[in-house]
Amino acid sequence: MSIFGNSIFGNKAAGVGGAGESTAQEGAAQEGTVQKSDAQWREELTPEEYHVLRQAGTERPYTGEYWDTHTEGVYQCRACGAELFTSNEKFDSHCGWPSFWAPLAEGNVRYIHDRTLGMERIEVRCASCDSHLGHVFEGEGYGTPTDQRYCINSVSLRLVAKDAEPEGTPQS
Ligand SMILES: [Zn+2]
Repeated sequence: MSIFGNSIFGNKAAGVGGAGESTAQEGAAQEGTVQKSDAQWREELTPEEYHVLRQAGTERPYTGEYWDTHTEGVYQCRACGAELFTSNEKFDSHCGWPSFWAPLAEGNVRYIHDRTLGMERIEVRCASCDSHLGHVFEGEGYGTPTDQRYCINSVSLRLVAKDAEPEGTPQS
């Protein structure tokens, strides 16, 4: 608990008493972030994207778009476009999902204790829109700078290749 500064269950129900439809959703609302109704997400996302991003599903390993991608660029949140990871921190974990040893910046993602499936895991979500991205594992011996593996669903990400980036940062 203490390592997770932001309370998972501290969400206040926003817009209480709003006329018309009041969709009681669990744990979705975070102030100051991208907020959309469940119906909006369903409309904007493909069924697969919706299942992973909004229902914390997991794509099958080795089926995603980016598990074996080495293209240089920035990985954005598929749901809201927030920049989450870059190719600089991507590494070959051979686990079947895109793996990163760090996010683009702390604060771009948030962490939630996940005890489903009888396992103690740390779920990784987009800090902007609260969509599910994947899980982070530690101490697996991959020999990366952090020894962490952000195991992220391809369908949660959208790669913006470096060449296509309008504001490219000069690199070597
Ligand atoms: Zn997002």
